Amino acid sequence: MPTIIDGKQTAQEIKSEIAVRVAEIRAGGGKTPHLAAVLVGSDGASQTYVGAKVKACEEVGFKSTLVRLESDVTEEDLLNMVEDINNNPDIDGLIVQLPLPKHISVDKVTNKIRPEKDVDGFTPANVGRMTLNWPAYVAATPYGIVELLKRYEIETAGKHCVVIGRSHIVGSPMSILMARNGYPGNATVTLTHSKTQNLPEICRSADILIVAIGKPEFVTADMVKPGAVVIDVGIHRIQDASKKSGFRLIGDVKFDEVAEKAAAITPVPGGVGPMTIAALLYNTLQSAEKKVFG
Ligand code: NAD
Repeated sequence: MPTIIDGKQTAQEIKSEIAVRVAEIRAGGGKTPHLAAVLVGSDGASQTYVGAKVKACEEVGFKSTLVRLESDVTEEDLLNMVEDINNNPDIDGLIVQLPLPKHISVDKVTNKIRPEKDVDGFTPANVGRMTLNWPAYVAATPYGIVELLKRYEIETAGKHCVVIGRSHIVGSPMSILMARNGYPGNATVTLTHSKTQNLPEICRSADILIVAIGKPEFVTADMVKPGAVVIDVGIHRIQDASKKSGFRLIGDVKFDEVAEKAAAITPVPGGVGPMTIAALLYNTLQSAEKKVFG
């Protein structure tokens, strides 16, 4: 049986560590860390994600503010709201939940967020700092994966790491982090995408396979080298009448058959997902303690 990389438990441990630190800050007379989330419109998945982030803030003793705006809010009004939060000295971290309605430029809004408060790590300043291996807010999902590799003491130096998917929020930063000089890192990285040829062959040469393609159960056992470490970022709801909710969650990897070949694997649910929120909280704590930008 492979090692099941338990993101749920690891995220819980990180949250406990953060809660201890918050109590220390408060006991020392310091300010409670404060995360603000902006949600535009009423998309069901976005509401669920933001709700989970606000709940997680409560769990660790952070203050949180949820700003809800109608889906027809103008770009200018949203930019002004971001600027107000930028200028609010009580708020340490600011996230704008994506996706945004089509009439609003994600790039403009992202770029409006002050890098010192960009705990999602999406601004050009933070992406650049991460790329240069400077202190930076690293995007929550890649950061969560890095933390899992660390806490499970997975060897990365000299290994071949194949990343499937080149999105700005997962695949691309993940490839940079795995290649950088440090731990986890020092891997030889192949970043694959929709135009990649011979993908199964490339995957079969991976010691570490990180899958963020957004296609249910895309990676099958024949694409995996025996003894590989497999990190599944995908999340998909599929109908399942046997569940009370009527659905169940699956990943980008065909878990049962790949688990038989892998040395270690993240499950879905309970793998990368819970780590994303823990990483966001950690970034917010870093901001409150002025650890990244000083
Ligand atoms: P995305 O759609 O932005 O990117 C998918 C990438 O896959 C693209 O770069 C594309 O080039 C590549 N791709 C598409 N078809 C391909 C093919 N046939 N071969 C190789 N590459 C191909 O997706 P994303 O935002 O990176 O998310 C990926 C998955 O991860 C989704 O299921 C998403 O729901 C999930 N996700 C989970 C978390 C979490 O917290 N667990 C966070 C973010 C995203």
